[in-house]
Amino acid sequence: MSPRKPSSACSRSRSDCEGDTGVYLHLPFCLSKCSYCDFASEALEEAGGLPAARRYLDALAVEMDLRSASDEFHGASVTTVYLGGGTPTMLPAEWLADLIARLRVRFALAAEPEITVEANPGTAEEAKLGALFAAGVNRLSLGVQSFSDDVLRTLGRIHTAGEAEAAIGAARAAGCGDLNLDLIYGVPRQSLEQWRDSLSQAVDAGPDHIACYALSVEPGTPLAADIEGGRLPAPDDDLSADMYLLAADMLGEAGYGHYEISNFARVGRECRHNRRYWTNAEYLGLGASAHSHRGGVRWNNVPSPGVYTEWLERGRIPVARAEALSARQRVGEALMLGLRCAEGVSEEEIEARCGLSPRAVFSAEIDRLCSEGLVIAADGRLRIPPGKWLISNEVLAHFVT
Ligand code: SF4
Repeated sequence: MSPRKPSSACSRSRSDCEGDTGVYLHLPFCLSKCSYCDFASEALEEAGGLPAARRYLDALAVEMDLRSASDEFHGASVTTVYLGGGTPTMLPAEWLADLIARLRVRFALAAEPEITVEANPGTAEEAKLGALFAAGVNRLSLGVQSFSDDVLRTLGRIHTAGEAEAAIGAARAAGCGDLNLDLIYGVPRQSLEQWRDSLSQAVDAGPDHIACYALSVEPGTPLAADIEGGRLPAPDDDLSADMYLLAADMLGEAGYGHYEISNFARVGRECRHNRRYWTNAEYLGLGASAHSHRGGVRWNNVPSPGVYTEWLERGRIPVARAEALSARQRVGEALMLGLRCAEGVSEEEIEARCGLSPRAVFSAEIDRLCSEGLVIAADGRLRIPPGKWLISNEVLAHFVT
């Protein structure tokens, strides 16, 4: 599909668009690819090393300049910033600091913005993290994934459990005041005891936030090939369900609120940036494969970092696809995203935002889900009871338009 500047599809006036927003910056380079990964990332050396990364960051700066000067983002106050990847901490800290500094100049950064950087424990030295905190980063998301070396080997991670512990220590020593740990369950050969041990070690580390993701075996990955070739067993759905329930129990007992299907946080430490996605709020994604949502339009950039760089070097907007959403689609998205959260969604807010009430579009589905106990309607809100979160995909599928 030919690229299209999304402003052409924005039906709202400039003043309508002067709300707050979040900015996601995609840094797609890693030391090597993990066996399960189908994210838009590539091994830095194979991509051309630091010179290629430098060219990519220059292109990212150009895209930032173009977006900040566009009608859609004129006057928008940026309340959250998220540097994800990939492994942002593969890159020199000064480069990331320069990006944040440029963002401050190009956009109106709100007072007390949340600025998160994702880090792989294999690339999280204290000095580098300290430089990032000095540049304004105030939240670190560490991809620990497991405290079992066996599980980390199956996942093809570049770090050991000991290095994950060292990275947590380095983060604290560097002054990290808001720490998330990512964990993965449902890994082939991972036992319930190994998962219990990882949860226990994560809690002992005292982070503010813990995200627990079920492993998804993506076609075309080395992990999928190992499973297809019989070298690894496929994930066991029943065991994965037990692991999910164990996480909910252990993290709840440890004082973490289960505020979204996969996310747990101490009070007031919920991820503000990710909340933007779940509340169907607006955000700008910069970088290869990054997605954006503003003014009723969704768009995504070209996935290849090399193509992204070339397009911007030639002055071409790197958008691969843009779509103006109908009111019906917007209501469906608002339900699919909002029902992931413990607080659910306000029917009135969705109607105010989308111009259509959820019941005007999904009356039969909502009635049926409520009668089956899969959705609760109370006080003007719809939510999935926590006891049904294990089958939330089944519920959310009803709102696909
Ligand atoms: S560190 Fe993350 S982005 Fe990089 S290869 Fe591993 S899973 Fe993929």
